[in-house]
Parts: sequence; structure tokens; C-alpha cells
Amino acid sequence: MSFHSDLLTAIPAPATRRLALHVTRDAERVLRGGHPWLFANSIVRQSHVGSPGDLAVVFDQKRRFLAIGLYDPTSPLRVRILHQGAPVTIDRAWWRQQVSAAIQRRAPLLRDGQTTGYRLVHGENDGLPGLVVDRYDQTLVLKLYTAAWLLHLADFLPELLAAQPAQRLVLRMSRALQKEPALLYGLSDGMVLWGPALSGPVIFTENGLRFEADPLHGQKTGFFLDQRENRARVEALATGRRVLNVFAYNGGFSLYAARGGAHLVTSLDSSSPALEAAARNFALNQTIPTVAQARHELLVGDAFQLLPEMAAAGARFDLVILDPPAFAKQQAEIERALSAYAQLARLGVALLQPGGTLVFASCSSRVGIDAFTATVQQAAALAGRPLHLFAQTTHALDHPIGFPEGAYLKCLYATA
Ligand code: SAH
Repeated sequence: MSFHSDLLTAIPAPATRRLALHVTRDAERVLRGGHPWLFANSIVRQSHVGSPGDLAVVFDQKRRFLAIGLYDPTSPLRVRILHQGAPVTIDRAWWRQQVSAAIQRRAPLLRDGQTTGYRLVHGENDGLPGLVVDRYDQTLVLKLYTAAWLLHLADFLPELLAAQPAQRLVLRMSRALQKEPALLYGLSDGMVLWGPALSGPVIFTENGLRFEADPLHGQKTGFFLDQRENRARVEALATGRRVLNVFAYNGGFSLYAARGGAHLVTSLDSSSPALEAAARNFALNQTIPTVAQARHELLVGDAFQLLPEMAAAGARFDLVILDPPAFAKQQAEIERALSAYAQLARLGVALLQPGGTLVFASCSSRVGIDAFTATVQQAAALAGRPLHLFAQTTHALDHPIGFPEGAYLKCLYATA
């Protein structure tokens, strides 16, 4: 198995000498409990100066092996724990085992053959911290969140591709990582590391619907794979209804609603390229009679501005979906996020026909399901449209939750 030109050959092998770390008692307890993050300010002693990608062994107060992880001196999240418990060797066999376990976890999702786009590795939650792998049919998209991974790619990628054969592998990098070109050994965001070049979107299926994903320029790795189960629920709720999909991106919820038999589907987003993709996704599914029959309207603009205008003009829908971007990624943003959720709840119910259904998702990791639910319920009640909640969902099978910070997605279903 060989990778493109010399892309990986410029990257040195990881240091054979491991870093030895001693940490605070609190950090020790947290790591023993299985948490995958060790922050710089929890390190009390370190054997030598480390560089990104070094394997760091954490020892406990009695100098026994506690955990091993990937060291990144450029991040306050200094070590991402690969393993805790009995000592292990991190080698190709170990990577293979992690990848196989992740694949196994997804098996139920793939049984009916209707889904070829899914998350194969969900970072920390699959024991491979700082690394995500999404699959879109024959294209794998590898997204890295720490420079520590670069030194391990030469060992990791052949194991990944052996366990999960694909025609192509695209490299994406987090924004933080893209800002560190000196650490990237010539690799850059959007490079194809394996297989043929990519000039546009790739087509995959989700529950039998065809979608395009743009692994090079799209948000996340090209598609919001985490909403698959919520979309399927929306499909079941959409028959005969007028549906408004706010923050529609490339029309995931819209297309499911159409297949479910919605008469009218309105996709609203501030990004016109996203809505153009939504229109193309509808075009890809015209062989499905209900999709062909549904009227699909596109509205480009800011939801906070358009929704009040639509309500004032008398527009009403039977099903309103709200799936905004993350409003709170940091602690300090929580209050603002909650007030944005309250505002959206008010705007959503104002557009809802009495007895209609509201589907409201939040992907703000810092806002828990209880605070989100309470905020939305209160705002709707104050607007004179109390909610009758009938479902709350969290993560799908391919986005497992391995630690508290891994839980970010929640979705409420209610009539009002
Ligand atoms: N529901 C989508 C994912 C939504 S991602 C799916 O199932 O795939 C969030 C979307 O909100 C993005 O497409 C982004 O362009 C859009 N967005 C962000 N701020 C917005 C705003 N103020 N008004 C309208 N759309 C917005």
C-alpha cells in the first residue's frame, strides 16, 4: 500500500523515547475514570521537553503506569489519552484493534445496505482522540484536531485502509491545526493522501436517499452525518404536511420530509451554496415519487430576520425544524446560546399551525439537554404556545458518547 508521492515521507517517525509525566491527584482520578484529556496545568513533572506526536506515559503517585497518550505541546489539551489501565504498546497492531472495534460498533447501521455515508471513527469516543474518519461511499475523510497525529499517520493509515478499504482518502484539519503550518510537514487541508484526485462532491446514500457531500469545502467533513436518525424521524412525521426546515444546509431534513410525503418543503439557510446543494440533492432523488411530487422552496437569508417577517406575513407550517449551528462552544457563551434558543423557539412556534410539530436540535456541547429543554419549553409557553414534548433524542450509533464532553447533540420533538 503506498500513499501519494512523498506526502508522508517528509514526516519523521515518532520518537522512540517516551515522555514520562506525573500529574496532580485530581487529574489522576479523572484519568482513572476514563477521561481522555490531560490539560497542561495538571502536569506536575515531566521527564524532558516533548514535541508533537510523542507518546507520553502518565505515572501515578506510586510510579505505576496509569495511561498513555499523544502529546501536543502546542495545545493546553496537552495529552489525548489513548489508553488507561494496564501498560500497552502503541503500535500498528494496537491501531488496527481500535479501528476494528470502531467498525464493529457501526455494523448494525450498515446491515440493510441503504447507508453508505457515516462516521467511522468518532475521535475520543472511539478511543482515537483528536481524529475523525467519515466515510462517503468510496471516499474516506480523515479529520485531524492535533498535530500529534501527523507522526503516526504512516502507521495508522495502512491499518485504517486495510480494515476499511476505500478508493480515496482526503485529509482535513481543524482550524487550530491549519494555523500551525510549521508542524504539518507540507500536508495541508483538503489534500488527497490516497487514491484519485477529487474535483467536486461525492455521492453517497443515507437510508436509501442520495446526497452529495463536498469533503474538500463542505462544513464538517461535507455533511452532517450526526442527524441521520432525526431525519428519519422527521420523515415519519411529514406525511401530508407543510414543512419548514430552518438552518437547512444541503437539505438533509428537507429531503426526508419530502420522501415522507410532505406537500411543501421550505429550506431556509443563510448560505446560498448550501441551498444550491439542497436543490441538487432533490434532483438526485427524483425517481422517488413522493420526492418528485413535493414542492421544494429555497429561502436564502438570516433566520433571525426572515422568520419574524414570514410570521408577520401570515405564513404557517405544520412542521418546523430548527437545527442551528453551535451557539456555545465555550463556557462564557452559554447564556447567549440559551437566549438564542429561546428566541428561535418563539420564532418557531409563531410559524406553527396550532397542533403542529416543532423539531428543535442543539449541537452546542456546553448546553446540556436539560437546560436546552427547559429554555425552549419556557420560551414557547411564554409565547402562548406551550409545548407537548413527545421525544428527546441524543446520539446515533456512529456518534457514540465516550465521555461527558462527547455528548453534544440533543433534539426535541413537541407539538404546540
Ligand atoms: N440541518 C442541517 C445542518 C445545519 S448546520 C443538516 O441536517 O444537515 C447549520 C446551518 O445553519 C449551516 O448551513 C449555516 O449556513 C446555517 N446558518 C448559520 N447561521 C444562520 C442564520 N443566522 N440564518 C440562517 N442560516 C444560518
